[in-house]
Amino acid sequence: LEAKEEFTHKTLAMDVMRPRRNDPPLTVLTQDGLKVEDVETLISETTYSGFPVVVSRESQRLVGFVLKRDLVISIENARKRQDGIVSSSDIYFTEHIPPQPPSSPSTLKLRKVMDLSPFTVTDHTAMEIVVDIFRKLGLRQCLVTHNGRLLGIITKKDILKHMAQVVNQDPDSILFN
Ligand code: ADP
Repeated sequence: LEAKEEFTHKTLAMDVMRPRRNDPPLTVLTQDGLKVEDVETLISETTYSGFPVVVSRESQRLVGFVLKRDLVISIENARKRQDGIVSSSDIYFTEHIPPQPPSSPSTLKLRKVMDLSPFTVTDHTAMEIVVDIFRKLGLRQCLVTHNGRLLGIITKKDILKHMAQVVNQDPDSILFN
């Protein structure tokens, strides 16, 4: 991220985050209630580098962030090496796993591959600050919340694209220093 391009206070995280107003909602995983086949389908039907993990779809409360490549590796390894992992195995990102009925397939525990404290900003955070955080912490992505509910995601590329647009459309809105 180029240091010379700065945002004015006018641009907020909500202006840069995905999904945009008419886009389909953010693709998230829930901390429980998903099966291996559900996650494999999601992996093959999307191109995102990662997925936020939430307590439930209703609450949209953030639990963590998991990279697609870590999901892929974990599931592949478990299918190969862990007894009883099949398509219908339950996946848990929770700390505690409820007791399973004796005949049910093995569960796959994925809490360890999840980032438990992904960086978050609120939708009203000035992009100037977001860019600063990206630079200083070397972030690849950052999650956006509103009143504690997960709302969206901003990747480094989203910021670069937005900067390029601002440069093209409205030179006066950029401060060069
Ligand atoms: P990049 O921005 O580097 O291409 P991704 O492939 O992860 O990274 O994301 C592509 C686009 O999709 C970005 O605009 C990003 O904001 C958005 N995005 C990333 N993850 C998700 C997700 N889980 N659900 C919905 N949109 C996402």
